[in-house]
Amino acid sequence: MENQTFKSWILDDETLSAEDEALLMEHLAQCPECAELKANLDTALQLVRAAPEIAAPVDFTQRFTASLAARKREEEKRQARALTLALSSTAIVVAIGALLIFMPEISLISMAAGFVTSVLTCFEVVQSAASFISGLIKNTNPSSLVTVFVVIGGWVLLASLTLALSVWKLAIKKVEIKE
Ligand SMILES: [Zn+2]
Repeated sequence: MENQTFKSWILDDETLSAEDEALLMEHLAQCPECAELKANLDTALQLVRAAPEIAAPVDFTQRFTASLAARKREEEKRQARALTLALSSTAIVVAIGALLIFMPEISLISMAAGFVTSVLTCFEVVQSAASFISGLIKNTNPSSLVTVFVVIGGWVLLASLTLALSVWKLAIKKVEIKE
């Protein structure tokens, strides 16, 4: 029989049949190479078994799980706050835009004021979004990143649409006044 077969038997002696075990013992008596492997393996196993067990603190797993859950909750809260901020900013911009578009009696000055307010809101939101994104990247979670980018993308789209409509309305008004 191949030396290699005996070596694999030595390394995996748990599953050996009694017959194979007898064959192995017989081979070990004659083959110094396999006998050495067996001796080395036994020594190693003895060392491993004799090593004092490094007992994990009893509540280690519990504490680890608890802190993980706490961190997850904290992250969810942060995301909810940022989402609320993004949505309420969107609502403000849309409201200002709607006011400008659907109230014809609004004066050019108040329209301009509204426009400036929209732009300022824009800056504020961009700022908070930037700080939110930097916070998010520290605790990255790919699926929530996608959600956030979809929300931000949607917000940017709405905001730019509203601002474009405001500008367009302003331009129309100017033309009307000239005529
Ligand atoms: Zn051998």
